[in-house]
Amino acid sequence: MVTNCSICDGTADATFSRKELWRNDRWRLTFSTYKDVFGFCYLEPLRHIRYITELDGIEADEFGTVLSHITSALKAATGARLVYVYIYGDHIPHLHVHLAPHTYGDPFADDVIRGGVKLGDEHVGEEVEKGFVRSVRNFLLSSI
Ligand SMILES: [Zn+2]
Repeated sequence: MVTNCSICDGTADATFSRKELWRNDRWRLTFSTYKDVFGFCYLEPLRHIRYITELDGIEADEFGTVLSHITSALKAATGARLVYVYIYGDHIPHLHVHLAPHTYGDPFADDVIRGGVKLGDEHVGEEVEKGFVRSVRNFLLSSI
């Protein structure tokens, strides 16, 4: 437990008006009690892991399965069309996944680019693309 972390010290529950819904030995799921975002949940590891890039070990092995089961449960419980999954990391440095059961007219963001921002017609070019692809592939080859 990290003492200056509101998720580890438990104060995030009161701050964000959330209640525990489920936990196992490694993960905890809470839900928001705000009516306007009914069904909105937070999934977080019990162990202090700051960002998705630091996820490893058994939490990493279990992440996909836990996420799949929880989003299926949320979809069934709320009647949502689908469940949006957001991971940011720059407000509270303890990995937490925002799970938003989506229905038409809800307040959840449905685009990764801020509203009103239009992409220009300019592209990065083949050399930049190749460098990016090579860098990501080399990292993956050395880590997976
Ligand atoms: Zn923490």
